[in-house]
Order: sequence, then C-alpha cells, then structure tokens
Amino acid sequence: MEIFTDFYYYSLNIESMQGKIKSFIFDLIFPKFCLGCQREGDYLCPDCRATIEIFSSHQPLKTKHLQDLYFATDYQNFLLKRLIQKFKYFPFLKELAPLASSLIIDHLQLIDNPPEFFKEKKDYLLIPIPLTKKRLKWRGFNQAEEIAKHLGEFLNLPVLNNVLLKKKSSLPQVELSERERKENVKGSFFFQNEKLIRGKKVILVDDIYTTGATMEEAAKILKEAGAKEIIGMVVAKAKAGSDRI
Ligand SMILES: [Zn+2]
Repeated sequence: MEIFTDFYYYSLNIESMQGKIKSFIFDLIFPKFCLGCQREGDYLCPDCRATIEIFSSHQPLKTKHLQDLYFATDYQNFLLKRLIQKFKYFPFLKELAPLASSLIIDHLQLIDNPPEFFKEKKDYLLIPIPLTKKRLKWRGFNQAEEIAKHLGEFLNLPVLNNVLLKKKSSLPQVELSERERKENVKGSFFFQNEKLIRGKKVILVDDIYTTGATMEEAAKILKEAGAKEIIGMVVAKAKAGSDRI
C-alpha cells in the first residue's frame, strides 16, 4: 500500500512537472504580455491586477431559483472587461482561465464568513453553464467549464458537465434587452443524468452575471432535475442596465 501511495504521489509529481515544463516551453514560444501595460510575463502583471478591486465581503443575492450568488468584483474595470473579452471572443485565449478563476478564489478567501462549501463538501458539486455543441466547436472550449475546473481543484469539489446541457442555439445575449434576454434563454437548457444531482447543492459557474437571465433559467432546470439548492458563482457581476456583454 505504501509503495502504491508513493508511486501515486510520484506520478502526480511527474505529471505536475510535465505540466510545468509544457507551460515553460509554451511561454518561450508564445510569451505572455500584460493586457494592461504590455509588460512581458503574465496576462496581468501584479500592478495591473491590483487595479481590479476584489470584494472583501460577500453581498448575498437571492432570486427565485438562486439561493445566493458569489461574485469577485463588478464588471466596471477596464482590464477586467478586456480579460473577459479576450477569453470569450476571437481569438480565444483559453490560457486566461487560471487568471479569471484566481479572482473568484481571492474573493472567497477574503470574505469574513467562509461559505459553507469550504468545510461541508458532501452535498456540493460544481456545474458550468453549458454551451451548445456548435458554439463549443467554434470556440474550442467552454469558458465557464474552464473556470469551474480551477474552482473545483481549489474547493476540492467535483465538476459535472454531463447534467446540464444547452440545446437551442439562442441569439448571443449581448445585443438584447433584459426582457429579450429572458425570452431568449427560455427552454434553451435541458438535463440528463439527473440522479447525479438529486438532493445536491449545485454551485453554478459562469464568467459574468449580467441580467441573471441565463443563470436563472439554468437554475430552474437544475431544480427540476432534483437539485436541492443552487448557488451562482461568477467572476463579475454587471450593474443592471449599464454593461452589455
Ligand atoms: Zn501590467
């Protein structure tokens, strides 16, 4: 058993070493430049990252289907907008996922009353807001899923991407009013493998919460599938009516 455990950790180390070597080589070929000041090194240098205000308190938000919402910051900061846009729109930078997730992780660590899912792991799991197959093919990755993977590692919670699915290719929400957004997402999600979430508390992950229409519709479907409680988790929350994304 001891040998097995040693071997297990050894394999993990090798894996993480391989990951480090890979990212080192990747950085050599494709150096990263700060989205703010163009300094070489990372997508946000420490100085520019510090201009994004990470909220140090939790501002509860309850809606019809959401029990609460965790958001690291608001969608006002110019660099944050640039980060999310580079992440979501062509040419997509999948490598921004760790940075986007780190903002949420910082927020969760800053807040005074640690959320229940810091300690109580049993009933919690993470589900990213899905994309349609067509959109996933176009972008090559689901940005919400990439964020969820990093959060799952940090929170030590499973990430399920086979329960909530998107069927209708709704219009991009960006150009729509709040009312149109609600109509647009209606009926666009469906579920399968519902036994995986029956009685569970689901942390629903997305990049931005704008009008909340997408998250509300997804939460409704997850409740229909038997989830006990839905908590939203996003990088930033836009002020109603002020930001179109
Ligand atoms: Zn910078």
